[in-house]
Amino acid sequence: MALKFEINGKTYSQKEARVLCRLLLNKYKVSGAVDDLNDFLFLKEAFERHHYNPLQKLPSPIKSIFVKPSSSGSNYQFWVVLEDGTETHIGFSKKCFVTERIKNKLIHEDNVIDAARHHIRYQQDEARNNFKNTNNLICAICRKAINKADLHADHTPPDSFKSIFKAWLDYKGINIIDITYMDLHNTEQRGFQDKELINDWRIYHKLKFNPQPTHSRCNIAQG
Ligand SMILES: [Zn+2]
Repeated sequence: MALKFEINGKTYSQKEARVLCRLLLNKYKVSGAVDDLNDFLFLKEAFERHHYNPLQKLPSPIKSIFVKPSSSGSNYQFWVVLEDGTETHIGFSKKCFVTERIKNKLIHEDNVIDAARHHIRYQQDEARNNFKNTNNLICAICRKAINKADLHADHTPPDSFKSIFKAWLDYKGINIIDITYMDLHNTEQRGFQDKELINDWRIYHKLKFNPQPTHSRCNIAQG
């Protein structure tokens, strides 16, 4: 049976739903804000009901939606502003209208990446503390001065977090889906189950990590 997705009382196939999202993306490339109420309500429900992980991605209702170029400038993306003030990019061509199997796979991958970030966070904190002892900090992204209260220690392109993590997986010859994780007690953090894997990952990351000071807002806007 073909998958059906309901949006505001109408049902769509996966393909139809994605084609409509694509049409709206193209429609708002120039003006930016999705200001037609019907278009807005269609996208709002499409994302809120059919994103693979709305609990994590959309913790509060969508308040407004707009279209802007990606950071590389090669394509356009939907961005949503939530009622809690969060602003985030949202994908529809792989991240919405998925099968149950793909949904579980994507959630597993997110959780493994979460765990991987958790295991190296102390390295970022160390770098940040070192920067705090330095004067005249300049943001590596916008090149303006940084107030120390607003300081992040970011990965430096081309060694972004994701590229280091991917290189490590390749080097180990493991698939992200095969890494098992667990919830760490009394926190919302996750960690790898395999202690040796944790050590290995920390060492690998440390070798490749070349932090630069950035504003927290510039860092977050980069995704
Ligand atoms: Zn900046």
